[in-house]
Amino acid sequence: MTASTLYARTNQRPDTTLVTVGRTVFGGPDIPMIAGPCSVESYEQLVTVARFLRNLGVNCLRGGAFKPRSSPYSFQGLGEEGLMLLGQVRREMGVAIITEVMSIEQIELAEPHTDCFQVGSRNMQNFELLRALGRQEKPVLLKRGFSATIEELLNAAEYILLGGNNNVILCERGIRGFDPSTRNVLDLGAVAVLKQRTHLPVIVDPSHGTGQRSLVAPLAKAAVAVGADGIIIEAHPTPEESVSDAAQAISLQELENLALQLVPVAFSVGRSLLLEPAGYSQPV
Ligand code: PEP
Ligand code: MN
Repeated sequence: MTASTLYARTNQRPDTTLVTVGRTVFGGPDIPMIAGPCSVESYEQLVTVARFLRNLGVNCLRGGAFKPRSSPYSFQGLGEEGLMLLGQVRREMGVAIITEVMSIEQIELAEPHTDCFQVGSRNMQNFELLRALGRQEKPVLLKRGFSATIEELLNAAEYILLGGNNNVILCERGIRGFDPSTRNVLDLGAVAVLKQRTHLPVIVDPSHGTGQRSLVAPLAKAAVAVGADGIIIEAHPTPEESVSDAAQAISLQELENLALQLVPVAFSVGRSLLLEPAGYSQPV
């Protein structure tokens, strides 16, 4: 297969593909936010976040039940119990859920409780996982590997599309650099490149991209300015107490402040931030 045929499924269309998560559309003129904790910790934690998001007008809740941790001694996630909690909050609050799967078995476990499967940075080239997600109907949020080129990210997306699942959202989440000043180097240039090379929606994760809560807002604004089709943020009711990624978690109030700051930035690039406050839609 030549390079041009390899990318046929990602660059052949002039317009951005619309990918719908729950009732939220990614890839259109409106820019949605996804927010929530790094890890699912408890029902109270999730329902507090979900209630806040609904009032703010954000319909997509993220939270990991299976956590890919660098150390086997770190918290690994609540697993199936975490999925049950996500499912419960999804039913009760009507928010769409995005949660990570790290293996083929976890796809089946997560499917009844989620609206979108996240493939994490460490699994971007888990090709069997990608093939299995290609056989699913629900959308996939594919995060860029922290050492992956843009071409490798597009090839990873290709695995999912080839299986018949066109509902792929790409996510720039930072790549490994030489400078420990930030956790990763958020490659916003890659967003501009991807917007030229693929019809898939491209979103940005400034939380993992920087690793520091004070840097999340400025990089989120830069991401919207450069053309991101969405933003994914780690937010927690008590950020310092997060069981994982505490340093980069922002509070719910900071999340609201950020959303308000993103409104004029989106407007300045001819788009609008998608906020649908409670009452706009009913729980599903
Ligand atoms: C996460 O979203 O919590 C996560 C582990 O992200 P990444 O795969 O980008 O490190
Ligand atoms: Mn995290």
